Amino acid sequence: MVRAQLLRASGVVQGVGFRPFVFRLAQQLGLNGWVLNGGEGVQIHVEGPEEALGDFRRELTERPPEAARIAALEVVWAQVRGFDGFEIRTSERRDHPTVRISPDLPVCARCLDELADPADRRFGYAYLNCTDCGPRYSIILGLPYDRPLTTMQDWVMCPDCAREYADPGDRRFHAQPVACPRCGPGYRLTRDGRESDGGASAIPEAARMLREGRILAIKGLGGYHLAGDARNPSAVASLRERKFRKEKPFALMARDLETARALIRLDPAGERLLTSVHRPIVLAPARVELPGVAPDNADLGVMLPYAPHHHLLFGSGAPEVLVMTSANRASEPIAFRDGDARERLAGIADAFLVGERPIARRVDDSVCRAGALGPAVLRRARGYAPGAVARLPTAQPILALGADLKNAITLVVGGEAFVSQHIGDLEQYEVYQAFEETVRDLTAMYQVDLAEAVIVHDLHPEYLSTAYARALPARERIAIQHHRAHVASVLAERGALKKRVVGVAFDGTGYGDDGAIWGGEFFAGSVVEGLRRVAHLRVAALPGGDAAARYPVQAAAGFLSALDGLPDLSAPPFGFPRRYGHARQLIERGVRTFPTSSVGRLFDAAAALLGFTREVSYEGQAAIWLEQLAGAGSRGAPYPCPFAGGELDFRPLLMAVVEARAAGRDRAEIARGFHRGLAGGIRDAVVALCEEHGVDTAALSGGVFQNELLLREIMALLDSGSIDLWTNREVPPNDGGISLGQAALALGRPGDVLLAAP
Ligand code: ZN
Ligand code: ZN
Ligand code: FE
Repeated sequence: MVRAQLLRASGVVQGVGFRPFVFRLAQQLGLNGWVLNGGEGVQIHVEGPEEALGDFRRELTERPPEAARIAALEVVWAQVRGFDGFEIRTSERRDHPTVRISPDLPVCARCLDELADPADRRFGYAYLNCTDCGPRYSIILGLPYDRPLTTMQDWVMCPDCAREYADPGDRRFHAQPVACPRCGPGYRLTRDGRESDGGASAIPEAARMLREGRILAIKGLGGYHLAGDARNPSAVASLRERKFRKEKPFALMARDLETARALIRLDPAGERLLTSVHRPIVLAPARVELPGVAPDNADLGVMLPYAPHHHLLFGSGAPEVLVMTSANRASEPIAFRDGDARERLAGIADAFLVGERPIARRVDDSVCRAGALGPAVLRRARGYAPGAVARLPTAQPILALGADLKNAITLVVGGEAFVSQHIGDLEQYEVYQAFEETVRDLTAMYQVDLAEAVIVHDLHPEYLSTAYARALPARERIAIQHHRAHVASVLAERGALKKRVVGVAFDGTGYGDDGAIWGGEFFAGSVVEGLRRVAHLRVAALPGGDAAARYPVQAAAGFLSALDGLPDLSAPPFGFPRRYGHARQLIERGVRTFPTSSVGRLFDAAAALLGFTREVSYEGQAAIWLEQLAGAGSRGAPYPCPFAGGELDFRPLLMAVVEARAAGRDRAEIARGFHRGLAGGIRDAVVALCEEHGVDTAALSGGVFQNELLLREIMALLDSGSIDLWTNREVPPNDGGISLGQAALALGRPGDVLLAAP
């Protein structure tokens, strides 16, 4: 008997070869009907024998295309229409699309074979792609995902490409960016403002220049990279100099997995991450020394080629390890528009390898680590954005604006939380513009009217994102305290909105309920009932306020002013510069001195005591330096860091560091003792608070928990206990995850219409 079913698949189902897959499956099973992309996902009408319908459903859920993620599949019986075939219908446009936009995908194995096959018509073609691979988010101008709404709109398909595009049996069937050397965009090389090589010679010529130690600006998927030979110290040095980047590590691109294995120590989880469809930069311990690439850092960040032009560069003899850093100066955002790139990179790059396909929006490379508690995302961008990371069951659109550092935003539509790509530090004017663009971009794409949305922002009255929120015509505005948002981000990711936990939020800085600079906070509660602050790091003085983040000795002056019996720190082995004395004077006079419970600044103080007495050249540098130092130390006894009366007391911890250093102990060992001591203090606090509040789970978040060594020490201490440790997996533990937590804490206000659980 012939029966009919209507199926609706939501999730990542557009731009991932889903409709062609459905088409082929229906044909195989002899089913008739249609499939189309709707605003809420893919809709399918199939009719045929009941048994075949069952097979169809099973194949759909068990063997979807690799990059597809079906979040929900609705199935209802429908009326038999008597179709005499199966067809792919044109997309329909609907209000409030909640379909998920696919992140950009790395070039697939079959396309790579064509790329290297001299007999193939796409041999050596830098813009080849298919339904399984290629650009998505970085070329999308609007929804639904169809060629006229992508940056490929200006290229008309040649007859061969058009045939593939229209042939349901072809693997390029409805591949929106389909192109070939005859009809599509190409790459060219420009030097000194003149186009020197176009067509097939551009990439080999670029590879030759890289071999010679030159610096190239190379247009990629979501922006320009600056590339140079990583094994050529003078190329690396000149890149640092021209880019005004003193010490911050450069990312590397390795020719293949074999080459990557020789650069960094990878465990199986790390290799899975490196070769995953996200193709992130993976941080791991270095096996080799590459002068100038990552000064004072025992880790290297490595990614694999992901776009066809990367493979072509390596295939044409480019050095097998390239520095591949975002093309910008210092902390500017990555350049992605051609004119802007030419202007901003003129003094940096010796030549430009420019692809003609425009980039719709800036998307940086993502950064991950195969960490102690599983894979951690430290910068969420290309390959991840703009994926939905959580279900937040509200019918109300929510726009959460994040924090001013490492900004990313979250838009909640139809109960799905979409997290934007990493945007950056809003104090940079270009980054602030990118922030505004991203708000416009995401809300336009999901057709959210801001006047109807709830806007969530940080509690900090002077954040630029707060001022932006105030100027928006919102239905309602909510301020969420920074560290509560950190904790909530962990819970939101896991859909554990009612889960009661002890939350630990440790970071550099965030505006507290009392206006103080917080950053070592313990909470109890849940997302729905709210998070109550129940303990914190003992409050210290911070001369100079947030500006102290640049000078570890300034933080040291604040924290050490709580200690008695200090030796002369201007003398060896400490050798503190004069800034320390000045900062002490500020504290004594009570001038520009603020209370703080920041663990980030405590790390700075310890780093200063062990020799990091200069200015930091990037955020978090001193803490990373201290972690690296400790990693080289033996596991000596932990220093004391007692927890009592709702306070974690740093004084004995720092005093132990001072005494050990004065006694001439090994610095690495002292750094280790500091980490182990702090871990012990956190353990004691978590155990006591879990018992007090009757919970068995601690949620850790905040930039401090990017510290692998600290996490491992805490884990080791809690190993035999009955407390679960939760950390971020989908969004960064740093401020890149704040917006998700903000959105979660905006749920459940009076009048909020909660959707039923899926
Ligand atoms: Zn492909
Ligand atoms: Zn063509
Ligand atoms: Fe933070």
